Amino acid sequence: MAAIVLDGKQIGREIEGELKVRIGNLAGNGVTPCLAVVIVGEDPASHVYVGSKERACARLGIRSIRVDIPADAGYGEVVSTVKRLNADPEINGILVQSPLPNGMDEIAITDLIDPVKDVDGFHAQNLGRLVQGDKSGLLPCTPAGVMRMLESADVDLCGKRAIVIGRSRIVGMPQSLLLAQKGVDATVTIAHSRSTDMAALCREADVIIAAVGRSNMVTSDWVKPGSVVIDVGVNRVNDNSVKGYHLTGDVHPDVGEIASAVSPVPGGVGPMTIAMLMSNTVRATEMQQ
Ligand code: NAP
Repeated sequence: MAAIVLDGKQIGREIEGELKVRIGNLAGNGVTPCLAVVIVGEDPASHVYVGSKERACARLGIRSIRVDIPADAGYGEVVSTVKRLNADPEINGILVQSPLPNGMDEIAITDLIDPVKDVDGFHAQNLGRLVQGDKSGLLPCTPAGVMRMLESADVDLCGKRAIVIGRSRIVGMPQSLLLAQKGVDATVTIAHSRSTDMAALCREADVIIAAVGRSNMVTSDWVKPGSVVIDVGVNRVNDNSVKGYHLTGDVHPDVGEIASAVSPVPGGVGPMTIAMLMSNTVRATEMQQ
């Protein structure tokens, strides 16, 4: 039987509906949330992502400002921009689009952002809270979006085996923490490039979350029948289309024939990430009142 497709666009629209009410309440107090996006250099994919974030802000009535910094401007200019945005009471959320040009220390820049304006949820204070089991801060958008997607599909994680493939600071590691926290209670395996026998590890899992960046890596013979498979990966595969490429996930399309639910790429975790960024921007604004 074909798997249920977890429609991130639809769930994202539901989240936006909830946010509009909260944005309306803020407006009643004369407050409009404002997100500042800092983009350094000309990475084409980053410009596409920033465009999606700006359009989401426009849909919701969140003010967005964008600071473009040339790739050769130097680290000092990025630092002074973040400090200026931290000090500006009109700005409620700040994100510095990843990746930064070679040689710029992303973690150091992230830790300069005021934690109450850290809408990406990557500041050491926000990630540290998560380790302490405290979800009240600003959570990393992609892992939080995956959790919301699982919740929307009524996936009961308590006592279930979950595997997260990937251990990055922005996806895999916080994802594993969110799945393992009290109240969610999954038993989590964290896999990475040094893990051996990935197929066997995955076949033990009730939930597979692939966050690697390798096209179609998770194949149907890795998946236990009835598992839930969430595909975080976004891979550009060159082709002869007008764009010159198409997007694939880390999960092979055949997995849909054996899993009970799968998230598509595009249209799965991507829209959830944007929705959670909007949610964090509203939350940051509320916390600052
Ligand atoms: P990353 O920082 O490059 O991390 C990739 C992780 O995958 C690392 O932990 C790496 O292991 C692991 N890995 C690499 N090759 C592997 C292999 N053969 N087997 C098992 N694990 C392997 O990437 P990321 O930022 O976490 O992003 C992962 C993917 O998600 C990318 O495709 C990215 O574009 C996508 N993404 C999507 C969204 C969205 O909104 N949809 C948001 C963020 C990221 P090591 O730690 O050992 O190197």
